Amino acid sequence: MIHLLYAVVAVVVVVQLSAFSTSIYLHRTLAHRGVYLNPIVAFPMRLQLWLWTGINTKEWVAVHRKHHRHTDVEGDPHSPVLEGLWRILLGNVYYYNREAKDPETLRTFAPDIGNDWLDRHILRFGIVGVLFGIAIFMLLLGPLWGGIAFVVQAGLYIFLNAVINGANHALGKRNFDNTATNLGFVAWLTAGEGWHNNHHAYPTSARFSVHRGEFDPSWPVLKALTWMHLARPLKVAPRME
Ligand SMILES: [Zn+2]
Ligand SMILES: [Zn+2]
Repeated sequence: MIHLLYAVVAVVVVVQLSAFSTSIYLHRTLAHRGVYLNPIVAFPMRLQLWLWTGINTKEWVAVHRKHHRHTDVEGDPHSPVLEGLWRILLGNVYYYNREAKDPETLRTFAPDIGNDWLDRHILRFGIVGVLFGIAIFMLLLGPLWGGIAFVVQAGLYIFLNAVINGANHALGKRNFDNTATNLGFVAWLTAGEGWHNNHHAYPTSARFSVHRGEFDPSWPVLKALTWMHLARPLKVAPRME
């Protein structure tokens, strides 16, 4: 029983750290250049993503920038408007990989990303990172619970991303006239990514909330990092009342 408890805590902590690393580092800092992040903070986030998701930075940014260029029209890598909501919710990984493996997409949308020494020699080998991640979980939780916990955290991370790419372009409310939607409970689980309608209106904003009642969990983290001179929001969307 105690093993189950440890495994649940490990999964929740790892999925949340991955969510913050995805939103703050991959999304707001790299893809949209809305944030400056000190390498001291960027490094643990890069390590987190390598160990628990195996994401290739260049691929993620390229696919995401293409999604912004062709949102919900021909050329969008993962649109529920074009493909249907259930296909994106259940098959997001397929749609993501299909686009990520296209060299033309990488050349066009992310020539500036994933080119430093750490990326080229270590972090681009996602499978190696994931094997280390599995080993860490197995050492901490034992082979059985460690293995189960790794699969569950990976499944949850993949599902949350599918919810953003699917549900956040199909269900929910809108502040702005674009095809993306806001889902408050998704924002709580994804470090703020659920304010996706706001994000499509102001893609380069470091803060994803625009109303007083909207909570973007990454924003207090960025404010604290800014206070410590470890980050700096470069653009911030105006507040609406
Ligand atoms: Zn979107
Ligand atoms: Zn974006």
